[in-house]
Amino acid sequence: SHVLVCGGTGCTSSGSQQIIDTLEQEIKKAGLSEEVKVVKTGCFGLCALGPIMIVYPEGSFYSMVKPEDIPEIVSEHLLKGRIVKRLLYSETVTDQNVKSLNETEFYKKQHRVALKNCGVINPENIDEYIGADGYQALGKVLTEMKPEEVIQIIKDSGLRGRGGGGFPTGVKWGFAAANQADQKYVCCNADEGDPGAFMDRSILEGDPHVVIEAMTIAGYAIGATQGYVYIRAEYPIAVKRLEIAIGQAREYGLLGKNIFDSGFDFDIEIRLGAGAFVCGEETALMTSIEGHRGEPRPRPPFPAVKGLFGKPTILNNVETWANIPQIILKGADWFASMGTEKSKGTKVFAVGGKIHNTGLVEVPMGTTLREIIEEIGGGIPNGKKFKAAQTGGPSGGCIPASLIDTPIDYDNLLAVGSMMGSGGLIVMDEDTCMVDIAKFFLEFTVDESCGKCNPCRIGTKRMYEMLSDICKGNATLEDIDKLEQLCYEIKAGSLCALGQSAPNPVLSTLRYFRDEYIAHVVDKR
Ligand code: SF4
Repeated sequence: SHVLVCGGTGCTSSGSQQIIDTLEQEIKKAGLSEEVKVVKTGCFGLCALGPIMIVYPEGSFYSMVKPEDIPEIVSEHLLKGRIVKRLLYSETVTDQNVKSLNETEFYKKQHRVALKNCGVINPENIDEYIGADGYQALGKVLTEMKPEEVIQIIKDSGLRGRGGGGFPTGVKWGFAAANQADQKYVCCNADEGDPGAFMDRSILEGDPHVVIEAMTIAGYAIGATQGYVYIRAEYPIAVKRLEIAIGQAREYGLLGKNIFDSGFDFDIEIRLGAGAFVCGEETALMTSIEGHRGEPRPRPPFPAVKGLFGKPTILNNVETWANIPQIILKGADWFASMGTEKSKGTKVFAVGGKIHNTGLVEVPMGTTLREIIEEIGGGIPNGKKFKAAQTGGPSGGCIPASLIDTPIDYDNLLAVGSMMGSGGLIVMDEDTCMVDIAKFFLEFTVDESCGKCNPCRIGTKRMYEMLSDICKGNATLEDIDKLEQLCYEIKAGSLCALGQSAPNPVLSTLRYFRDEYIAHVVDKR
C-alpha cells in the first residue's frame, strides 16, 4: 500500500511535514518500510481540512490528522487493514460503508484537468510524472507534428488564457510564430498576486513538470529556444519544486539540446519576482525579466511582435500551460467538448471567505456559482445567508445573490460586471459590508499602482479617500456620483490593465449595492 500526504503550502502550514516525519518513523517501527511507501504530493483541494492524507489501496481520506493520530493509523490501518473511521473526512463516512472521494459533494461536480496530477504524484520525482503520461505530448509533438499543426490543435481546442484576459491561446501562439526573428521567447506568468488566489501556486507545487513540458511544446510551435518562468519569491515551495523539476528534465534530456533527437533545443530559466502586483501584467513582467523596474509598456507593440528583449514572445499563465499536454494527447475535440460555447475546458478556482470548504476546485466552464458555493463549497457557515461572491480579485467585481445561477464563463462574468481574473473566488455572507469590500480592494490597488501614469497613481488614491469619507459618513449623495464618474475616467485613462480594472470592485458594488453606499451617507448625516 502507499500513503499520499499533501505537501502543498496549505497543508504544510497546518503541519503536514511533521505528519510525514512521524509516519515514516512509525512505519519503520512497525517493520513496514518495505511494504508501505509514503508520497508527498501537491494539493488535494480541501485546504480547510489539512493536514490531509489518503491511504491506498482503500483510498481512505483522513483529514485534520495530528501527529498523535499516526500510531493508530499505522497499527490499525496499515498493519491490520482496519480503517480508522473517526479520522476519516466526515463526507466519506456513511452508516454502512466508506464512500469514495469522488462521491462526496466536494468532488463529484469537479473535473480535474489542470489539476490532474495534483495530490496524485510526487512532484519532486520526474518518474512519477512520466508514469502519469508525462512528456508523451512533447514526444508526440517533436516526432510527429509540424509547428503549425501544434498551433492549429491549440486554436481548435478553444483554450483561452487562464490568467484573466481570456485571449485565445492558439491565436497568440500563431502571431508569435508568424513573426520572423533570430530569437523568440516563451514565458510563464507565475506571479499570482491577487489576494485570495493560489491556483497557480498549487499547480507548480503539485505538478511542476506539466509547465516545463507545455512551455517546451510552445517553444517548438513558435520557434523559440529559451523560456523563462517568472515566479513570486513568496512561493518558496513552488520555486524549489520547479528548480528540482528543471534539473531533472535536463538530466533526462527533456530540456536542453536536441530533445528527443529532433534537433530542437529548448531550455528554461527561473526569474524571481519581488512581490509587485503590477509585474503580473505582461509588459511589466517582461521589463522586470530584462532587469529593469517592473513597469508596464504601452501596447502596441504587443509581445508577440516585440516582447522580451524586443523579440517575439508569448506569455501564458501557469494554469493555461497545465492544459496544453492533455490537449495534444487527447485532441482538440476532447477539450472543446467541455465548457460553454465560447469558454472551453475547465477553470480552477481558489475558493475562500465565508464558506465551509475553502480550498481549490476545478469545474467545467459553465458551472453555476450556486453549484460551486452550495454544493462543492458546502454552503455558508453559521446558518448565514449568501450575499455576494467576488471573482477576479482587485480587477474583478461582486456578483450578488440574485445572480447565483449565472453559469460561470468569461463572457457571463463580464456581462454581470465582474471578470474571470485568474480564479480567486471570495464568498461573502449577509454580515459583509460591500463598501468595506470595495475599500479593501482599492487599498490594495493604491499600494500596488506602479505610479507610471497619473489616472491610476492619483485617481485610485482619490477614490480610496472618497470611499473612506463615505465609510465615515463624511460624504454626500453627490459624492457617490462623483466617485462613480471618477471610476469611468480612471478606466479610460490608465495605461495598463491594473489601472483600467482598478475601479471594477467599486463599480460592481455600486451597481448591485448602491443602497449600502447611500445608507453610509444618510445614516451618519
Ligand atoms: Fe502603473 Fe497604474 Fe499606470 Fe498601470 S495603470 S502603468 S499600474 S500607474
